[in-house]
Amino acid sequence: MTPVLSSLLDDVLRRNAGEPEFHQAAREVLGSLGPVIEANPHYARAAVLERITEPERQLIFRVPWTDDEGTIRVNRGFRVEFNSALGPYKGGLRFHPSVTLGTVKFLGFEQIFKNALTGLPIGGGKGGSDFDPKGRSDAEVMRFCQSFMTELYRHLGEYTDVPAGDIGVGAREIGYLFGQYKRITNRYESGVLTGKGVGWGGSLVRTEATGFGAVVFAQRMLATRGRSFDGARVLVSGSGNVALYAIQKVHQLGGTVVACSDSSGVVYDRDGIDFELLRQLKEVERARLSEYAARRPSAEYRANGDIWALAAETPIDVAIPCATQNELDATAAATLAGNGVAAVVEGANMPCTPEAVQVLRAADVLFAPGKAANAGGVATSALEMQQNASRDAWTFEYAEQRLDDIMTGIHDRCAETAERYGAPGDYVLGANVAGFVRVADAMLALGVI
Ligand code: GLU
Repeated sequence: MTPVLSSLLDDVLRRNAGEPEFHQAAREVLGSLGPVIEANPHYARAAVLERITEPERQLIFRVPWTDDEGTIRVNRGFRVEFNSALGPYKGGLRFHPSVTLGTVKFLGFEQIFKNALTGLPIGGGKGGSDFDPKGRSDAEVMRFCQSFMTELYRHLGEYTDVPAGDIGVGAREIGYLFGQYKRITNRYESGVLTGKGVGWGGSLVRTEATGFGAVVFAQRMLATRGRSFDGARVLVSGSGNVALYAIQKVHQLGGTVVACSDSSGVVYDRDGIDFELLRQLKEVERARLSEYAARRPSAEYRANGDIWALAAETPIDVAIPCATQNELDATAAATLAGNGVAAVVEGANMPCTPEAVQVLRAADVLFAPGKAANAGGVATSALEMQQNASRDAWTFEYAEQRLDDIMTGIHDRCAETAERYGAPGDYVLGANVAGFVRVADAMLALGVI
């Protein structure tokens, strides 16, 4: 890192004490920007880096709600409106007990560059709460969402800030949040939230988009080395929305996903994961993953198992971490690289630790960072906003074609940028630089704000 960038990073670390995930994300992005900053001194003169690392607005609020026993509970709500140079703040809401301001800032910071890479007019933001939806009844989730939106609504708008889902926030939560927004504002403002049900303003393919998009990105990346998913054996960690549809797309492309996981363990299915059974369990029954093995003779459940360790047991070609941040460490990366894995593709946000990325890079394993590979979700959210604005609803085929084109565009933009900066095949550099330049140029055009 150049002296200018490392002193800037020191400032970011000092001013955002106790936020290790945000530090990690900032270090990674700034680490790629040396050559761009050197070649474009006007970015430094306009303090673009100082501004881009400082959120435009950070909201923290109390969320009181009543559980089914009548006990009053209090959670903390967050929305970090990070950057609106390219469009309204756009990014999901995460409901998980681990959520802190630092988590939301890391996600919001990543979102700026991810959204820029899509080429669509969306700024970056993220939000959430330390509320844990696990084990809560529908009525409790509804009351929580209503209370959360009762504060947040005043900060939202289709031209201002447009949340969506993330971990712990799916179609059910978006429905309750939208209902409360509509009630408070007396406006059917469809474009204020994305990930809506397809019957009331949602877009076809939005549910599948993050997982589908990650696999399309992987397909393009594999093709640069003359490989494909046909006959490939794949590990997909997680079993939420991203993992589920990554699995479906791998199977559509002729590959086999042999394992997935949740926070309690791993399912290894010798015959390949049965997508329909998994979807039924996770989306309809909201069951734990252990239930999958109970219903499928070819599968075994390993409580507390490590999904990446499977690469030492059975041949694996591609690994797609789709669970959560920092789930794949240097040891796991060494197991993957040492056993002939060709590519690691981040379906989740920052699932690989920096040390893991180093190990993969040293072993010449193809690596796709989340801000490029998982951008299909937010890109399809932007397509949902587009349909809402034109009061239209596209077919599945048309929406999927748009998603494919966007993912191919992101892949090519990252690859070309990496090449131009003398680092062919470095998708981390390509994604950070290409995303940054688009936002930085817009910030320059808009003046010092
Ligand atoms: N939470 C998703 C992400 O990490 C999607 C955000 C959105 O659709 O706005 O990109």
